[in-house]
Amino acid sequence: MTEHSFSKLPLSREMLDNLESLGYKTMTPIQAESLPFILDGKDLLARAKTGSGKTAAFGIGLLSRLNVSRFRIQALVLCPTRELADQVGKELRRLARATHNIKILTLCGGMSFGPQIASLEHGAHIIVGTPGRILEHMRKGRLPLVDISTLVLDEADRMLDMGFRDAIEEIAAATPKNRQTLLFSATYPQGIQAISKSFQNNPVEVSVESHH
Ligand code: ADP
Ligand code: MG
Repeated sequence: MTEHSFSKLPLSREMLDNLESLGYKTMTPIQAESLPFILDGKDLLARAKTGSGKTAAFGIGLLSRLNVSRFRIQALVLCPTRELADQVGKELRRLARATHNIKILTLCGGMSFGPQIASLEHGAHIIVGTPGRILEHMRKGRLPLVDISTLVLDEADRMLDMGFRDAIEEIAAATPKNRQTLLFSATYPQGIQAISKSFQNNPVEVSVESHH
């Protein structure tokens, strides 16, 4: 067992076996530094470059908090673009594949509303999407966020660059105050400090320069 083995973490046997089957032998630096806190329920403010394994860091965290037998939206992941949301959705499905009946729904702009509305009527455990489209569904009353236990802001600096600050604000305000909030960003401009202050509760700060 190496120093950064996933088996040092309080994860289910199912998750550990799945990570092994995905070929994830050791944690990347951002995973090793953040997962103990994420699994402990802490808020996290993390800086790490692209390709460092951030998706599995928050994905393992939110999946371990999920109550699958409770068919409610329990985790929401906000991403800047459709491409990134699709990638995150795919990685979450891989991480969740050992657990039966987890429903993960991706909701992005530029896609027609009909299928998204139908999917929302069927329900989901996890929503991944872009802030504008999430907000539209929310305002129409199609996206109940009262059961959210984990809110993830992925690539938060890019979301701010794209002008999503107000949308993120309105979405976060619709989630429970006692949620866990995980914020990932490649850079720490002023705006990141500000959203961390307004959305996070005493966050653990982690910064990782590069992968390996
Ligand atoms: P980021 O969001 O930081 O840009 P990703 O979460 O997309 O990075 O991960 C980059 C790649 O690394 C993905 O292909 C993912 O499957 C892989 N990966 C993540 N964690 C591990 C790990 N512990 N071991 C091996 N590969 C991993
Ligand atoms: Mg990413």
